Amino acid sequence: MSECIFCKIIRGELAARVVYEDERVLAFHDIQPAAPTHVLIIPKKHIARMDDVEPEDEALIGHMFAKANEVAHSLGLTENGFRYVINCGPDGLQTVYHIHLHILGGRRMSWPPG
Ligand code: 5GP
Ligand code: ZN
Repeated sequence: MSECIFCKIIRGELAARVVYEDERVLAFHDIQPAAPTHVLIIPKKHIARMDDVEPEDEALIGHMFAKANEVAHSLGLTENGFRYVINCGPDGLQTVYHIHLHILGGRRMSWPPG
């Protein structure tokens, strides 16, 4: 069994505040929110880094973004806007090596990112 913490959340071995789930993706609140709304959406397939995505994963990644849009809408983020973030590798400050799209909203963001 995978020791990956997001795989553990998918299997129900670690608790999470789930906001959306289907057979291919899971969305849940970040444990350490960086904004008033901070949700992560992940594929249920374990893929460590965004640059590990293979051509066979294209439909899955598209589905993840489509469902992220629905989550952002259902959380009331679409009127004022929000931010999607994917960190990749050490310089990208990725800390959990199971790909995840951050959905951040509820405050004005800054740019450039830190
Ligand atoms: P990264 O830095 O890899 O882009 O983002 C990892 C995110 O996962 C962080 O925002 C962190 O707060 C979140 N996180 C880490 N462990 C857990 C956990 O056990 N549960 C939840 N819900 N979020 C987690
Ligand atoms: Zn995993």
